[in-house]
Amino acid sequence: MLLELDHISKIYGSLHAVDDLSLTVPEGEWLAIVGSSGSGKTTLMNMIGCMDTPSKGSVALEGRKLEDLNATQLADVRKNLIGLVFQKFYLVPHLTAVENVMVAQYYHSVVDEKQAMEALDKVGLADRAHHLPGQLSGGEQQRVCIARALINEPKLILADEPTGNLDEKNEKIVLDLFRELHQQGTTIIVVTHDALVASCAEREIMLNHGVLVGEKWNDDAARAAYEAAGGKPASTGSTAEGAQSGDTPIGFEDPTKAAKTGAQPLSE
Ligand code: ADP
Ligand code: MG
Repeated sequence: MLLELDHISKIYGSLHAVDDLSLTVPEGEWLAIVGSSGSGKTTLMNMIGCMDTPSKGSVALEGRKLEDLNATQLADVRKNLIGLVFQKFYLVPHLTAVENVMVAQYYHSVVDEKQAMEALDKVGLADRAHHLPGQLSGGEQQRVCIARALINEPKLILADEPTGNLDEKNEKIVLDLFRELHQQGTTIIVVTHDALVASCAEREIMLNHGVLVGEKWNDDAARAAYEAAGGKPASTGSTAEGAQSGDTPIGFEDPTKAAKTGAQPLSE
């Protein structure tokens, strides 16, 4: 397994932002984490991406427990294994698209304009390379961010609401890019509250108030391969209402939304 979460919690005072979650993700999987605002998605993502540490439980990447690593080793994992894409673009406003990609290269101790241009070409932005972020549309800015995240050829892409600010057309361009990366074997974990974006993933898990309340596979072949390799369902030790333990799968329905709209489950 590329990623193993073993009973992880993130606790702020009396708030369990993430409550006793266990989850394994094999290399090459495309996973979506869904749930309404405040359900703990970003907190979970930050723990996976070595940007935050769990209050309880452990996170392992490629079999290495993060809590056993020192600061330098953690920085190396973050740098060599992970590519991050955020909802907010965090581009340097006075640097051009290609220069923004080169900032990421600098962080990886290479500065090679040709390679940065290739990365932009990959996301369809070769002709925008010398524009400033302010001269680019939201979709184009997000594609610069994806080019930037790809610069070290990460095994794992973590994307937090990557299409949150995009119109439909640009959302599709970003999803097509993810599809291509997935086909090339990259592991993708995407946080989203958009059901369409989530449905592109092979598997979805749903959080509510930090608690795992659902898991759903969108790709039967991927599920079969996961189970054949000994992969277990996501589970929680939490006893909160709606919590899903490994052996009692429930329907895939956002409790918050259902309460608000009386909506039926998305499927299943
Ligand atoms: P999501 O990304 O699903 O919208 P978050 O992971 O950002 O949710 O937040 C989950 C919960 O944890 C929220 O109630 C949020 O207010 C709380 N939270 C997040 N970060 C902190 C923090 N640093 N201190 C206290 N509470 C926090
Ligand atoms: Mg969030």
